Amino acid sequence: MRPVGPAVAGALAVAVAVVGCSSGSTNRSAAPTAAPASASAGATGATGPAARATPIASPTTLPAKAQPPRPASGRVPRPRIVDRLIPFPAKRRREMVAYARRHYGISTYRLTDPHVIVEHYTETSDFSATYSTFAPDVPDSELHELPGVCSHFVVDRDGTIYRLVPTTIMCRHTVGLNYTAIGIEHVGFSDAQILHDARQMRSSLALTRWLRCRGHIRIRDVIGHNESLSSPYHHERVAALRGQTHDDWKRADMDTYRRRLARLPC
Ligand SMILES: [Zn+2]
Repeated sequence: MRPVGPAVAGALAVAVAVVGCSSGSTNRSAAPTAAPASASAGATGATGPAARATPIASPTTLPAKAQPPRPASGRVPRPRIVDRLIPFPAKRRREMVAYARRHYGISTYRLTDPHVIVEHYTETSDFSATYSTFAPDVPDSELHELPGVCSHFVVDRDGTIYRLVPTTIMCRHTVGLNYTAIGIEHVGFSDAQILHDARQMRSSLALTRWLRCRGHIRIRDVIGHNESLSSPYHHERVAALRGQTHDDWKRADMDTYRRRLARLPC
């Protein structure tokens, strides 16, 4: 989810531009249409002062929740996960509620019953740079919005899986899908680099398998950031952003990823 664009002066831009998950953002004119549906996706479970401030703004706009077939839950081992939680205090939660209102028409910072997993890469060579980008709650340099961007997990090149944000909280990592998507970053500079890194891939697949089996997420809904616009769950209320996506994890590479994931059933 790298914020990209013209160079921006100032420390903030430096801090934000250090990391990214794309060699560039793209904006396509033809965004897919989302099926009208029930409003329950991502809208339940809101508690706290900010979350209960406003009811769902537009009950008919969120994509339909997937009905069966969804994978059966099995006994999939939880991979070893190292907690490096970023600060997510009340201010950031309020900003997440406001973001969810603007972009999805729901008033919650909570991620409830996610239906999509989005794979990214960081365009950094180590985990610490990624953490340093996600931890501060500052506007991103691409869209200039709050809260700061983040991702739920980061898979390092040595195979270490870091958890930065609980999967019960929304993160800004993929325009159009944050209300229902878990984000997984990979330290690296390209799809190919990660696909050919055995240690990193082993951890990535173990994490994605565990998350998708636990959450009944279909393999087809494990997508690359670059596939975001074609997800049936894509939903964006801000017209100017309806064709916005990034270049990380293109379809051909995700097809490879999904084939490997399919060998690890729930
Ligand atoms: Zn990305």
